[in-house]
Formats: sequence, structure tokens, C-alpha cells
Amino acid sequence: MKDSNIFKSRLPSIEIPHQDLPTFWFSQMRQINLFMHSSPRPVFIDGIRNSHERLYLKQMQTMCLQLASGMFHDMGVRAGDMVGIVLPNTIYYLVCTLAVQMLGATCTPANPAYTADELRFQISHSGAKFVIAAPTALSTIKQAVAGILPYPQNVLYVPTANHTDTLLNHEQPCPRSIFTLLCDKPFSRFQPQDLKQLQRTPAFVCYSSGTTGLPKGAMLSHYNVVANILQGVSVQKQMTASNRTTLAVLPLFHSFGLVLMAHSLPLCGSSLVIMRSFDMSEFLYNIEAHRVTDTLLVPPVINALAKLNSSEWDISSLKWVISGASPLSSSTIKSLELKYPHICVMQGYGLTETSPGLSLNVPGRRNQLSSGELLPNLECKVVDDKNNVLSIGSTGELCFRGPNIMMGYINEYDATKHIIMDGFLHTGDVGRIDPTGHVFVTDRKKELIKFNGFQVAPAEIEGILLQHPLVRDCAVVGTFCSKRQTELPRVFLVLNQDEKLHDKNSVAEQVVEWINSKVAYYKRLRGGFVVVDEIPKNASGKVLRRVLKESTVSSNVS
Ligand code: ATP
Ligand code: MG
Repeated sequence: MKDSNIFKSRLPSIEIPHQDLPTFWFSQMRQINLFMHSSPRPVFIDGIRNSHERLYLKQMQTMCLQLASGMFHDMGVRAGDMVGIVLPNTIYYLVCTLAVQMLGATCTPANPAYTADELRFQISHSGAKFVIAAPTALSTIKQAVAGILPYPQNVLYVPTANHTDTLLNHEQPCPRSIFTLLCDKPFSRFQPQDLKQLQRTPAFVCYSSGTTGLPKGAMLSHYNVVANILQGVSVQKQMTASNRTTLAVLPLFHSFGLVLMAHSLPLCGSSLVIMRSFDMSEFLYNIEAHRVTDTLLVPPVINALAKLNSSEWDISSLKWVISGASPLSSSTIKSLELKYPHICVMQGYGLTETSPGLSLNVPGRRNQLSSGELLPNLECKVVDDKNNVLSIGSTGELCFRGPNIMMGYINEYDATKHIIMDGFLHTGDVGRIDPTGHVFVTDRKKELIKFNGFQVAPAEIEGILLQHPLVRDCAVVGTFCSKRQTELPRVFLVLNQDEKLHDKNSVAEQVVEWINSKVAYYKRLRGGFVVVDEIPKNASGKVLRRVLKESTVSSNVS
């Protein structure tokens, strides 16, 4: 392999300390509090309307130590144990995960909306022995852990506003609340014997989004996570604002929200307003109420914001929107910024397997078409289908090497061998890197539509379709045509509800004619259209194309 075809990040290298995550995070936070703020600012603010709950650094430190001690003495959590975290976004999320990690145990965050079967899969696959959950998830957890771990002894819950008492009345015997477990006794704190142990110990086992199949458990070491926090912070801190306040709405069970939002942004001096889940009017209300300066979103939300007709809220304080998780078209960026000239959208790109950040646009050097510049300490190469390394600037599969590449998939030796080769993580994404270090992601290898030997990227067609005023949402997938022995691009369309549409099919036909006149002939939607009410997406906002492909809805093939 020619070394000159491996692109090394052009951003200044950073030193990554060999510390466990809680030690690193709290020591960095103490510095921030000392040097950045004249009076202490809350780290986390509850984003529920009329709630006055806030969490300051000192409180967090005390709670973490006491919770770790309680889990050690009263529940028997020990180094090496796996603890499931089944929580919606809450100001106590990091208190729980950092306390677990102080013990040298590992957290595996799960979607609190999972069904009992889905949770059972993650709990048994990761080997979790304990679970920390929301009261709303307890009855599901009881079913999920039956026969795997003792209930309620090995389960803890985090009280949430209002509902806790009523919900818990149904739970007999009931798990303990984290607050009843806080204890001051000394406990055996995670003390890595040597650097090797630190690199072998997962801080998190984060499951991928399950867009292309079953979610896979990426083991992220303390070192991986510390590295990615610092890689993210090196760029995020340039989006400065005094009294920086972030609206934290991404799910914390996904590595994007967990690492690059909840761990990184407090280290940039930001207070995080934690929203339980996305709701447009609460989102806008929170921006005005807390004078929010920045937020991290996924493309469907940015698209909805760009298409919003009117709003009663003043969101002029919002300066930065970081977008990630799936492709965002430059036309959506343009329409959002035209509507709100005070906002600048910065795209980033990453994978659960890379803790997750790989690239992020740098203020002052943004390229609207790119998913950002390769983050510090990372190397990138692009390979063809036969794994030959291509020259810089060519398009192929994006591969990365660096300190944030996962240790491997938990209990999946073969899958790990196929994704990490020669120290490089093979992303399965198609794209290129240019000589300035900007990464361009075209689409996933698996999702490219192959029409008569041409490749069609669904994300490109979707980006154009979203510009049409009658299109609210859309997804393009390949459908196999046995007569022509090739895949044909087919669109699933959600039409704008505001319009008084008498004949949705004729509107959809117009939309298809419109797009077919705008794209090269091989990209035309020869597979026809299907009008739907909603595009299926997973919790990280990604289109579930496999669900659409499998759907048997009849369509108009033209
Ligand atoms: P699974 O691996 O289980 O099928 P997943 O790949 O969707 O699910 P994640 O790790 O959450 O799980 O997502 C990583 C993927 O998201 C990337 O491989 C890429 O395809 C996509 N992605 C992330 N950011 C961007 C971006 N800015 N532009 C385009 N695609 C992106
Ligand atoms: Mg993936």
C-alpha cells in the first residue's frame, strides 16, 4: 500500500491522556469551571417546561461517588460487569454511566422504547448483569430479564417527574431508586493496573442503529471515548459563544448524543438543556426560554425546520446546528439558512464503531457539500471493491484508522474481522476525501441502486426531491425488475398535508416527472412511486430502506 494514498488529518494532533473516562471528564470539567465561568453554571438543565431541575458539577461529583459506592456495597456491581442503561434523556444520565464506569464496569445504553424482546436481545447479547431504567420501562424490563437476571434485585430506576409514584404502585416488589442507593462508604474505584488494561476495558458497549440488519455491539474503550471527546472538542470549541447553551435533543442511548453532545459540549463550557424526546413546539420553546446557542440534530428534523411555516417563538439566539447520522443535502442547508440567517449548519459524519466522530466542518472553512474535515489523529484511505487503495480524491469505500476506532464487536469475532482490516475500519460507506481533508459521503455501499451497470445514490435523489414544495418527506430504494434484470429506483413519497390534494397520485406523478427532468437519464425513477403517510425511520433518524424494500405495497411502475 502506497503511504501517499493514506490521508492524515490536517488538523493539529492532540494528546490523548491514558485516563479512565470518569477521571478524565471530571478533571477537565473542574478546569472549565475554574477558568471559564465566573460563577458556576449548571451542567445539565431539565428541558421539561416548568421544571426547575438543574445539575451542577459539584452535585454530579458527589452523586456519582455515592451511587458507585451504593452499587458496589448494596448491589455487588464489580469491575468487568456489564450494566444496561435503559433511560430516556434525563439530567441524571451521565451520573449513572460515570458511576458505573468508576467501578470499572461497562455501560450498554439501550433505547428505552424497545420492546421486551428487543431489550432481551441486547441484555443477553451484551451479558448485562444489572439494569438502570426509567420507571416507564420497568414492566418491559421485568419481562425482558426473566430468567436472565434477578428482578427486582439487580434493577435500579431513575425517578422521573410526576409519573413515578403511580407507575411504581403497579410494580410489586419494586426495584430501588438510585437516590435510595446513595451511600458514603468507601469502595474500590476503577484503577487500571496498566495502560493495556485501560485499552482493553470497554467504557461503553454501544449498539449500532440496526439500519442494515441487527444492531451490533461496538466495544468502545475508555481510551476510544476520551479520544473522541477531545477530537470533537477540538472543533466544537471553535463554535464559541459566551454563555453557551446547547439544546440536547439527540437520544443519549446513541453514541452521537452520548459522546459528541453529552460528554463533549460541557467541556466546551456549554450548559445542556436536556429534552426527553423531540417535539417541534417544545424544541422552539426551549430555544427561546433558555436562549439556546447551539444544537445537534438529524437531517429529518432539519428538513422539518426548513419547511416550518411559522412559529411564535424567538429563536434568534441559535447560531450553530450540527447535523449527523445521515446525509443532509446542501439544498436543505441553504433553505434553512435562508429562513434563519443567524443559523450556520455544520455537518459531521461518524459511526457507532468510531465512538462515533470521524469528521466535522470547521467554522470559517465550512464546505456545505462535505460532511466535514477529518478529525485530528485520524487517517483515511479509500478502497475499491477488491480492497485496492485508490488515490486521494477518488471515490470508493471510506476506511479510517485512529484512536477512536472501536476495540471490536462484543461476542462477534467474525464480524469484527470483516470490518477492521489492517487496523483500518471499513465503513461500508461510499465517498471520497479531498486534499483539504474534507470528507464527502455519497451513500452506503449496500444502499446504492444498480441500474444497468450505473450506480444511483438514493441520498442524492432524495436531496433534490425535498426541494419540491409538495414533498414533505421521501425515500428512494431499488426495486428489482425481473423483466429488465436490473434494479430500478422507486420513490416512497410523503406529500405535504397543507395542500388540499384531491388526487395524490396525480400530484405524485407530477413530482416524478419533475425530478426525472432534473437528473441524468439513468437516475430517473423508473421504478415508479408509492404515496405513503410516513417514511419508516429508526431512533437515530435513519431511513429504514430495508423495511421499504420488503414492503409489498403495490406501486405504479412506469
Ligand atoms: P447498522 O450498522 O446497525 O446497520 P447504522 O450504520 O445506521 O446501523 P450508526 O452507527 O448509528 O448505525 O450509523 C452510522 C452510519 O450512519 C454511517 O455508516 C453512515 O452510513 C451514516 N451516516 C452518519 N453520518 C452521516 C453523514 N453525515 N452523511 C451520510 N451518512 C452518514
Ligand atoms: Mg453501520
